[in-house]
Amino acid sequence: MVVPYKHEPFTDFALEENRKAMQAALKQVEADLGKDYPLIIGGERIMTDEKIEVVNPANKKEVIGRVSKANQDLAEKAHQVADETFDWWRKTKASYRADILFRAAAIVRRRKHEFTAHLVKEAGKPWKEADADTAEAIDFLEYYGRQMLEIDKGVEVNSRPIENNRFHYIPLGVGVVISPWNFLFAIMCGTTVAAMVSGNTVLLKPASATPIIAYKMMEVLEEAGLPAGVINYIPGSGKEVGDYLVDHPRTRFISFTGSREVGTRLFERAAKVHEGQKWLKRTIIEMGGKDTIIVDEDADLELAADAITYSAFGFSGQKCSACSRVVAHEAIYDDLLDRVVQKTKEGISYGDPSDNSRYMGPVIDQGAYDKILSYIDIGKEEGSLMCGGKGNDSTGWFVAPTVFADLAPDARIMQEEIFGPVVGFTKAKDFDEAVRFANNTDYGLTGAVITNNRDHIEKAREDFHVGNLYFNRGCTAAIVGYHPFGGFNMSGTDSKAGGPDYLLQHMQGKTSSEML
Ligand code: NAP
Repeated sequence: MVVPYKHEPFTDFALEENRKAMQAALKQVEADLGKDYPLIIGGERIMTDEKIEVVNPANKKEVIGRVSKANQDLAEKAHQVADETFDWWRKTKASYRADILFRAAAIVRRRKHEFTAHLVKEAGKPWKEADADTAEAIDFLEYYGRQMLEIDKGVEVNSRPIENNRFHYIPLGVGVVISPWNFLFAIMCGTTVAAMVSGNTVLLKPASATPIIAYKMMEVLEEAGLPAGVINYIPGSGKEVGDYLVDHPRTRFISFTGSREVGTRLFERAAKVHEGQKWLKRTIIEMGGKDTIIVDEDADLELAADAITYSAFGFSGQKCSACSRVVAHEAIYDDLLDRVVQKTKEGISYGDPSDNSRYMGPVIDQGAYDKILSYIDIGKEEGSLMCGGKGNDSTGWFVAPTVFADLAPDARIMQEEIFGPVVGFTKAKDFDEAVRFANNTDYGLTGAVITNNRDHIEKAREDFHVGNLYFNRGCTAAIVGYHPFGGFNMSGTDSKAGGPDYLLQHMQGKTSSEML
């Protein structure tokens, strides 16, 4: 019997002992920087000449490591290994697979600060955000292990006196898991182990900006008893390796988390049936967001302003769930805007997150920096810049927390995913209009409503069309097993990571019926 699932508590860095432990972990990680990392195919370490150089986004000169880069030949080799391994892995007991996850969770928990310190370096996460990323990775391991044990209990179907019927779920085959850099540990780990614990074999292609944490997870899983060939670690160019694996006729499913642009492209490619392919590929695709907080006429404005600043600027707005739009009732618009601008100016500091004194760290790379600044230029044309609006990329990629006011709900700033610390305000004349404005995007990932009006809560529950809707809190920080996560419309397939249905998307139902 496993103990009931409970999510991993966050570390309180206000306590000196925790701060000291984290500082020690950062030193340990710093001593380990600059190494070369191999691919892992069938358990074999393969060092390639061509490498992905990973740098600290807060300090471009600091090389975190150089990771071997898979090409199409190595991707093919990994595919063959995964295919062969699937023959026997699919027959392993659910408890055998789940136990690997439970042991891996325990290993990560014991070395929690070390992983968190690594995330500070590899992605420029502030301590609190990095700690939450590690906690979420532990949660996915614990939660999906237990979910697999639940699924293994089977589902009742009816039998008749002359026949005995059974229904159970079996795995799909070789899965390609493609992960983003923003939750470099949690999402990469969750999507990979979900595919593996449900009996599939995996080709893991992490984001090129943050592939080292995935290598470290592989080491943990191996220590926990993961057999060779079940998960194959093949970082490489999304375009080159990603396309090859998505198109491969022996790929059975694709689990992707990332941008709308890549997700929709991959969806189209996965739909094509290639020569030798015997199935229609399953796709689990989670993409971007343009997430809105609605603030009602009677709302607690301090709560609203805190929820907005926290959701807009946590990890520099680089969350698919980040609040990038505020729709405020006209009666409280000015007051709310003043409070948010004041809190941003006084409370949202930014800089190198290594010493935990800053609220925000850098953005991930030059491409992100340039894109965010170009949206800031657009915002200056479309609305009024209230604070921020500048960047500095001399040592790392830093963008000031930025607030725009007086935007039309269909302005580009209010429609397109910026993926940086930029939030725009628009005004609604009543609650119905606020919900209409909130729904007026192609996306549908998260949203929040700050209100004390019970009828408006119920209206939003029915009409605010997002996968994750929150009341009287911010729109980020979903917890595994408590807030199953996934979006509607162009935010994705609503696969609900960290929810009770998630693993089933990596499986297929089989009915057997025996005449008596
Ligand atoms: P991205 O540019 O779409 O990249 C995601 C992954 O796709 C990376 O591993 C990337 O590899 C790979 N890739 C790129 N081109 C590919 C291709 N042609 N075929 C197959 N794979 C390819 O996204 P990102 O910048 O890493 O992440 C940020 C985005 O993710 C945002 O839009 C955010 O909203 C979204 N996101 C969504 C969720 C959610 O649950 N809905 C969660 C987190 C993030 P390379 O790195 O090698 O290019």
